[in-house]
Amino acid sequence: MALKLFNTLTRSVQDFVPLDPAGKKVGLYCCGPTVYDFGHIGNFRTFVFADLVRRYLEFRGYQVRHVMNVTDVEDKIIRRVRETGKPLREYTGGFEAEFWKDHASLNCRPPHERPHATDFIAEILQLIEALMARGIAYRTDDGSVWFSIEKYRALGHTYGQLVNLNFDAMRAGERVANDEYEKESLADFALWKARVPDDGAVFWPSPWGEGRPGWHIECSAMSMKLLGASFDLHLGGEDLAFPHHEDEIAQSEGACCQAPGQRFVKYWMHGAHLLVEGTKMSKKLGNFFTLRDLLAKGFNGREIRYLLLTAYYRETFNFTLAGLEGARAALARLDECLAKLRDTARDATAAPEPTLTAKFAEAMDNDLNVSAAWAVVFDWVRDTNRALAAHQLSAVQAAAALAAWQSVDAVFGLGAKAEAEAPPEILALLEARQAARKAKDFKQADAVRNEMKAKGWLIEDTASGPKLKQA
Ligand SMILES: [Zn+2]
Repeated sequence: MALKLFNTLTRSVQDFVPLDPAGKKVGLYCCGPTVYDFGHIGNFRTFVFADLVRRYLEFRGYQVRHVMNVTDVEDKIIRRVRETGKPLREYTGGFEAEFWKDHASLNCRPPHERPHATDFIAEILQLIEALMARGIAYRTDDGSVWFSIEKYRALGHTYGQLVNLNFDAMRAGERVANDEYEKESLADFALWKARVPDDGAVFWPSPWGEGRPGWHIECSAMSMKLLGASFDLHLGGEDLAFPHHEDEIAQSEGACCQAPGQRFVKYWMHGAHLLVEGTKMSKKLGNFFTLRDLLAKGFNGREIRYLLLTAYYRETFNFTLAGLEGARAALARLDECLAKLRDTARDATAAPEPTLTAKFAEAMDNDLNVSAAWAVVFDWVRDTNRALAAHQLSAVQAAAALAAWQSVDAVFGLGAKAEAEAPPEILALLEARQAARKAKDFKQADAVRNEMKAKGWLIEDTASGPKLKQA
């Protein structure tokens, strides 16, 4: 069976066929964080979703190049920079560092490329120039540059590929300067925003005068530079479909970057919203959680990741603290079964038992149906527990079952219980030991290992890397 994914562009579930003629390489772009504050749990639903897509493609044997941008210049950032008086890089750098820590505590694989908008000003200017050359972009007297939807459509392009726009019913404004605007406003959007006093030191020179890029053009420039003018997958939260993603298409296809007959992106995937405790997150209602708020409540990244991964990405998910308690219980059931399997397997090794992975893949091939995949896993846990209780599993069979779980967990990324519970100090030591081993400084590696042992943590070197165990 082929992997099937829901493509927002066609509003249908389609077989996934990469652009690579060899069918091997896949380019994946996910709109990353705007680093003006700590990431909240709704943001992280999108990033865990992107991580799931990437990991499942890798499980299916694809060679994925995962790009996630960091928006480090944008309306909200400029406002905060003005309020705090900090230089742009200093302000965004702090939140970015915290973002990657959060990303790692949810065990999301680091993207291969993490481009920053402010490093791509030259590419952005080039793209705007190409739009100017086709008459799709125009400059106003203040030195801003705008995208003309009318000109774009007059050249035979479609505006409204990801959403159905009713041009007659829409409130036609002349221009919209904000990076984020409502679906009702059908107005030319900013590609380049002329420098104003409020921008402070945040501006760059351009052929149209000093200013800064609009948010939408940043993603067009970075994605095409790193993945090519046409690439396979573009992901993001559903709130980004319009205007952000629609504008990305308009800018990229309007500049005629693609080969004839090719689109900017082949498959668009959008993750649904997250509610918290039944309603939209809001600071006033007290249901606004950053990831660190949840960690401070005593939950760990593994439990939060698990809960986010129980929901089908296209469905609105109600994230609750009770749900996190449930996640803890579900993981305990899984961990108990795995611990018993380890006891039975001892030192035996075996290839993965194929039934679990086959059923798991069948569920996931259906547009990443994690609900069905988890049902497969927990049926397997029940059957395995029964077989263990009846002493029906040999050491080799237990090892084969463990290996099967490891293949599934390469996608779910829950890791072992001990690792999720290890304090940061121990994780830092583990990293130091790995670095020493990589540098072939085995004396240092052993010294770190002993230090960890003294603190009550053992390292088990396995084929899939080092595993932590509490002594
Ligand atoms: Zn974007």
